[in-house]
Parts: sequence; C-alpha cells; structure tokens
Amino acid sequence: MREKTVLITGASRGIGAAAAREFARAGWAVAVNYCRSEDRAHALVEELRREGHTALMVRADVSDRTQVGEMVDNVLENFCQLDTLVCNAGVGLTGMFCDMTQEQWRRLFAVNVEGTIHCIQAVLPHMVHRKAGKIITLSSMWGVTGGSCEAGYSATKGAVIALTRALAKELGPSGITVNCVAPGVIDTEMNGSLGPEDLAALAEETPLGRIGTPEEVARVLLFLAGEGGDFLTGQVLQPNGGLVI
Ligand code: NDP
Repeated sequence: MREKTVLITGASRGIGAAAAREFARAGWAVAVNYCRSEDRAHALVEELRREGHTALMVRADVSDRTQVGEMVDNVLENFCQLDTLVCNAGVGLTGMFCDMTQEQWRRLFAVNVEGTIHCIQAVLPHMVHRKAGKIITLSSMWGVTGGSCEAGYSATKGAVIALTRALAKELGPSGITVNCVAPGVIDTEMNGSLGPEDLAALAEETPLGRIGTPEEVARVLLFLAGEGGDFLTGQVLQPNGGLVI
C-alpha cells in the first residue's frame, strides 16, 4: 500500500518534531519543515531515515508566501501526493497589551495566521484536484479563552480557530477536512520563559495534575490525520489535561 504523506510545519523541535516522529513511526512519509533550526531538523530527518522511514527536510519561513509555495512544490515533487498538512509553526509573545509594538503584532500575525493561510492555499490546488486531504491547524487554549498578557498570541490563535471552522464548511464538499488542535500547557521551548514555580502552579490548576508532553499532542494530530478523523471537520480538539473545560 502507498505510504501516506504529511507536511508538518515547524517540525524542527517541540510539538512539530514529536509529530514528525509519531507520523513516521506509524508508517507515514514525513516532510519536516523548519525555519531557523537547520541542525535540529537535519538531526531529526537523519534519525527517522536511520529507523527506515521516509523523511524530507524542507526549509521555509511560513510567513513568506513565495518560500511556502516553493516548499510545497518541492514536497509534491518528492512525494507525488500530499495527504495531510499540519500547520504547526508558531511563535509566542508574553507581555502587557499596552506595551506591544506594531512590529510585534505584525510578526505574530505574519507567522501564526498568515503562515497558516499561505500553507493551506499552497496545498489546496493539489487537494481539491484529488478531492481528498486533511488539514490540521494549531491553535491554543488561549485562542479559546484569551490569556492575560498574551493578547496578541490569543488573537492570532482565535483567528486560526475561525479560519478552521470557515474552511471546514467551504472545503467539505471538495472532500477535504479541516480541524484544529488547541493544546493547553505543553512542555516545549515555547514555555521556556516560565519558571519552575509558574509551571508547578499551572500543573496544580490542571485537573490531571501536570502539564502535557509534545508526544501527547502529536498523538491527537495523528488521530485526526488517520481514519479516526474521517468524519470530523471544523472541530477543535483540546489536549489540555482539563485545564479548560
Ligand atoms: P516551539 O517554540 O517549541 O517550536 C516552534 C516551531 O515553530 C519550531 O520548529 C520553529 O522552527 C517553528 N517556526 C517558528 N517560526 C517559524 C516560521 N516563521 N516559519 C517556519 N517555522 C517556524 O513551539 P511548540 O512546539 O510549543 O508549539 C508548536 C505549535 O503549538 C505553535 O503553533 C504553538 O503556538 C502551539 N501551541 C503550543 C503550546 C505549548 O504550550 N507549547 C500550547 C498551545 C499551542 P525553527 O526553530 O526551525 O525556526
């Protein structure tokens, strides 16, 4: 049977890297997108290839439409077909709303929202032509509830949810599903600015009593991309240990 194929943006580290391992070990051919962390993307792709998996390393800054177009062309040339797109690349920003500069707002939206849009638009002609495809976006619990001192980040992640729901309606008739994963607090470098006390407080607030791992989010992504996700579209799955219910 043909290997299923996935392009995961921001797969050089964190949730994206965990997803690349999870998909590869489930038999998928994986395109690992990175922007700055070339060494880490390279090490990951080598690791996957050593294990006998098909892995491709593709550089693009998702906020750059031209780079995204070239990346998707490259993936399609190598894999011939793309079954799933995971729009995972993202940046965070913590700080008071009144202190945020226009440049910071623009960067957050350029990566988190426009990056998602560029990637989806780049894969759509292929998926529409095949009348098949699964698109998964990454939001956050802050995109659902809003987070104090995370106004810009929350706004971008709320936009991703609205985009997901609208596209699910628009693309369903073309056989394409669009779903969103909105994690709670996950142990990655994105939360590197949180000290041990902040993390302990968040764990205590969480009904399951701990923060999540990138692998736990990766398994939700794989579920959505697999047969389990066939009749799901426009949904927001929230691996968050019950922090937001
Ligand atoms: P990390 O900071 O650990 O990793 C971010 C990834 O995004 C890196 O691979 C980075 O690539 C990539 N990236 C950043 N900017 C760009 C860009 N312009 N173009 C391409 N890739 C880029 O983040 P996480 O793994 O924690 O987060 C992954 C996603 O999950 C994000 O969308 C985030 O908002 C979301 N999320 C995370 C949560 C958490 O608690 N960690 C909670 C809720 C949501 P490189 O290093 O190569 O530049």
